[in-house]
Amino acid sequence: MHTVIGLEIHVQLRTRTKLFCSCNADYFAAPPNTLTCPVCLGMPGALPVLNERAVELALRVALALGAKVQETSRFDRKNYFYPDLPKGYQITQREFPLALGGELSFRMDGERRSVRIHEMHLEEDAGKLIHTDEGALVDMNRCGVPLVEIVTEPDIRSPKEAREFLRALRTLLRHLGVSNADMEKGELRCDANISVSADGELGTKTEIKNLNSFRAVERALAAEEKRQRELLGRGGPVEQVTFGWDEHTGTLVLQRSKEEAHDYRYFPEPDLVPLVVTPDWLARVREEMPELPWEREERFMREYGLSRKDATILIEEPARADYFEEVARACGSPREAASWVLSEILRYWRDEEPPIGAEALGRLITAVKSGKISRTNAKEALEEAISSGQDPLEIVEERGLSLLSDEGELRRLAEEVVAENPKAVEDFRAGKKGAIGFLVGQAMRKSGGRADAKKLSQILLELLGSS
Ligand code: ADP
Ligand code: ZN
Ligand code: MG
Repeated sequence: MHTVIGLEIHVQLRTRTKLFCSCNADYFAAPPNTLTCPVCLGMPGALPVLNERAVELALRVALALGAKVQETSRFDRKNYFYPDLPKGYQITQREFPLALGGELSFRMDGERRSVRIHEMHLEEDAGKLIHTDEGALVDMNRCGVPLVEIVTEPDIRSPKEAREFLRALRTLLRHLGVSNADMEKGELRCDANISVSADGELGTKTEIKNLNSFRAVERALAAEEKRQRELLGRGGPVEQVTFGWDEHTGTLVLQRSKEEAHDYRYFPEPDLVPLVVTPDWLARVREEMPELPWEREERFMREYGLSRKDATILIEEPARADYFEEVARACGSPREAASWVLSEILRYWRDEEPPIGAEALGRLITAVKSGKISRTNAKEALEEAISSGQDPLEIVEERGLSLLSDEGELRRLAEEVVAENPKAVEDFRAGKKGAIGFLVGQAMRKSGGRADAKKLSQILLELLGSS
């Protein structure tokens, strides 16, 4: 049986003000109902004025996806009643959306996938209900916050692919600087449509609303895929219904059947003129486009000689890619920088800020390269620097972690080890060349990991009379 999935994705655009008024759009930590005005509260007679910046951010997304920007688009009213919607309608674009077509390519299990975009349009967000023991409270701060809705074609073939598509989209949105696209904060939300069929024709789809984590997208779709497969297996028809998803119990919650489907009575928004994107305006937006993630990935491979795999991980987050480039500049060795960032830094990177400054890491890598400190001890100093905030080279200094490369001291160490391990020495002389490793290890331990391993084994070989 074939699974077919299409997504409708809402992305909050990072503007200073809301889509149709000058209220602050940064509602996340604001006290309830402090960021409102007559326009976003839908007071009679208040008139919306379109936010130019929101249009530009949406255009960036359209250009990045290769969509066809419509020179003239229009706003419509979508009418419905809900306590978080004070106007009784949402301003959206239904008949004439901002852009048509486009696609997003990404890699999954080493394979190239591509999902076509049907259309994308601008719309305003609604408020929020806060459920308490005494009843539901309403917070209007989010009313009128700008969203771009991206609707895909039904090109996705599995729940996992839906998740990977969304990840790739988040990476793109972050590189474009149009949104933080944090699903946990509701900056990226997804409604998922899914159908299953035996014959390759499009089957009847169901919809799962308001998925707000990557995990939820994959799990909810997997649950619904399973349900539809079983239903079809028993010969029963799939009905066109809408579900919610309960992440705690991992279950689909029926929200409405086809008969209960809303009639939104869309009509053109009479208070806004059509949106005209002139070729000049579009050209300006194009000029300001930042480097796209897939362009950056190719550049990392070309310019720094990184593998595809490493480059892909580094560009996943723009902050990560920026950090890598700063470290590379600071130490002059991009491949070393990539290796340290991927193997050491990512384990500790939790917040937006990297766990240690790029300059400090760059200096540490330089010290390893120039033989001032062993890799093992550098990692130890780095770990301590990350937990204490101290400079790693200061830690190396204070704790005497720098590389022991003084000939005399190394020789003394080697002589001690030779005297203390007659068995290994005998083995070596009898032809078991591997015994040298044991002796180096013993000397290493004595030095607290600081001995210059290369010089040390040279001296040992010399003492044992084999060089
Ligand atoms: P509706 O009119 O019900 O809103 P649309 O045609 O606008 O449906 O499509 C909404 C979303 O559902 C799109 O993302 C689209 O790709 C997806 N979709 C459409 N048909 C199917 C199907 N048969 N199976 C899965 N997804 C579908
Ligand atoms: Zn307002
Ligand atoms: Mg639709």
